[in-house]
Amino acid sequence: MSDVLVVADHRRGDLRDVSFELLTAGRELADAADGDLHAAVVSGNVEEFAEELNREGVDQVHTVDYGEEFNHDIYTQAVVALAEELDPEFVVTPNSVNGLDYAPAVATRLGRPYVSDATGLDYADGTLEVTREMYGSKVETTVDVAEGPFVVTTRGGEWPPVEGSGDAEISALDVDVDEDAVRSTVKGFEEVGGGDVDIGEADFLVSIGRGIEEEENLALVEALVDATGATLSSSRPIVDNGWLPKNRQVGQSGKQVTPDVYLAIGISGAVQHVAGMKGADTIIAVNNDPNAPIFDIADYGVVGDLFDVVPALIEEFGGEPPSV
Ligand SMILES: Cc1cc2nc3c(=O)[nH]c(=O)nc-3n(C[C@H](O)[C@H](O)[C@H](O)COP(=O)(O)OP(=O)(O)OC[C@H]3O[C@@H](n4cnc5c(N)ncnc54)[C@H](O)[C@@H]3O)c2cc1C
Repeated sequence: MSDVLVVADHRRGDLRDVSFELLTAGRELADAADGDLHAAVVSGNVEEFAEELNREGVDQVHTVDYGEEFNHDIYTQAVVALAEELDPEFVVTPNSVNGLDYAPAVATRLGRPYVSDATGLDYADGTLEVTREMYGSKVETTVDVAEGPFVVTTRGGEWPPVEGSGDAEISALDVDVDEDAVRSTVKGFEEVGGGDVDIGEADFLVSIGRGIEEEENLALVEALVDATGATLSSSRPIVDNGWLPKNRQVGQSGKQVTPDVYLAIGISGAVQHVAGMKGADTIIAVNNDPNAPIFDIADYGVVGDLFDVVPALIEEFGGEPPSV
């Protein structure tokens, strides 16, 4: 029997959605390896988090009640302790800022092979096949890791979140954290420009690209955002120009998003952009170039000038287009 241990992600009092995607990936691995799925949560309001993680397909939930926010040294010690206690064949964490921080340290301490940023996982006959993307998502590769146990991080937006409630056993693990080895503390949070908007949580994104031409023309898209109740995001050039803050950027070096609707306006559909939004349920593109690659992945498309199309959309939603 080869068990799977997945480690949830949380930030400032909330479990992150990627935790529930991790449960799907973990359950698939556990089924392939004929093992149990263990979900773990470290620090914060662990009792509440454990109840949330008790979803369909989870066999056991483990809590480590130590500290409030993410801390590299506490997580590393806690996850190593969990792995030593449970002896799972697989330790799986999100390929998030946190997961990328502690997973390699955990793998090193446990002496296990480590593969990051998995977009697919297959396990058969003791070999783990990990699908990854390379060269800015231009190439898909598979990595065969012939000898476990394994440590893997999984990319957000690649597995659907588990929905149904479960009947897992919840237990607390008392980890004897070595305080001398905890070398940093979180003293507080400071919002970066752009406020606390998390485009990764939005259901409806209106995303603007270089087709907008000038910063003052952003008023047009902002009026559409107001009229529709959407959240504003963008491609990288808009952020590189300093027109929107970094937390609005969708893509390989920005945020991965999975909204119900993604309306891409004046965005060409470069692979680095698509890597961040291809998981949207419905993609709508507005572009004046009928050959723009964004139309290859769009469910609906308008070939037209955004300076005509966007005002018409604003009016359709009962708003007043600004003059730009
Ligand atoms: C390592 C690396 C990481 C990267 N990471 C990211 C990332 O995270 N996110 C990201 O977005 N990019 C990223 N990029 C950049 C990426 O390669 C593209 O350059 C970028 O996505 C292009 O942005 P765009 O589509 O807004 O601009 P363009 O490619 O210039 O496209 C503008 C589009 O607007 C259309 N257009 C122009 N005028 C109008 C009009 N009046 N009406 C309608 N349509 C119009 C054009 O036909 C064109 O298709 C990265 C690049 C590298 C090398």
